[in-house]
Amino acid sequence: MTDFIPAIIVHGGAGPIRDDSLPARLDGCKAAALAGWSILQAGGAALDAVEAAVVVLEDNPLFNAGTGSTLNSLGKVEMDAAIMESDALRAGAVAAVSGIKNPIMLARRVMEDGHHVMLACEGALLFARQIGFPECTPESLIVEREKKRWENTHGTVGCVAVDANGKLAVATSTGGIFNKLPGRVGDSPLLGCGTYANSFGAVSCTGHGEAIMRILMARDTVQLLQNGIEPGEAARMALENLAELTDSTGGLILIDRYGKIGYARNTTHMPVCIVSDSAKFTLDS
Ligand code: ASP
Repeated sequence: MTDFIPAIIVHGGAGPIRDDSLPARLDGCKAAALAGWSILQAGGAALDAVEAAVVVLEDNPLFNAGTGSTLNSLGKVEMDAAIMESDALRAGAVAAVSGIKNPIMLARRVMEDGHHVMLACEGALLFARQIGFPECTPESLIVEREKKRWENTHGTVGCVAVDANGKLAVATSTGGIFNKLPGRVGDSPLLGCGTYANSFGAVSCTGHGEAIMRILMARDTVQLLQNGIEPGEAARMALENLAELTDSTGGLILIDRYGKIGYARNTTHMPVCIVSDSAKFTLDS
């Protein structure tokens, strides 16, 4: 028996939601959180849980990750993703990749391979080919909504979890920001910026990557936990910093090793779903 209580939270991106898709986005977050929760409940690893949750969100065209990713200035999809676990600080990331249905799974493979932490663009695709990872046509990731430019700039997805062994993990996946230049890499795949996990906490950020990466938001938030600050308060302080230092907007989710959860946003919306030991889920937006 352990003292650790499994818990999981997912987010569907911080930003204004200008259409009536909020209930469907909350449903999507719930489906993702429950996919991760079923792994945790069966005694599985936080790493598998966050990956499974993010795959569900990547496959849901409502979210700006995987299928449904926002388009760059050339009308193409280029995605970033990172996964990290507290144990031995293992991590893997891919940046500016196209033609991959589930970038978070490729990030996991980069991590398992162990040679590098991040692979970008063609190099990531070459790696995928070498390990026999399935590819898809870049066009299959583009949805009508994005073509019509309905979507606003945000909608990254992320998940943090702790398992029954007290191990923490995070996964973040995104199509980035609308109309970005080709080759632009945001905060999500950069460890310490949009994604970070160590034995004190796991954090996934969303918002304006150019701001988030300049304040190392994910690592700084974990440091707050290391300093004894409660997750809810740490989330609020992180956003205060973001606003104060960069005049920017965003949101974040975090979890500590005891399964305490925090989240905050300074945007109008950030759909989240939490599932904890009671197996009850909480939705918020
Ligand atoms: N942080 C992401 C990026 O800048 C965007 C988002 O969170 O929606 O790539």
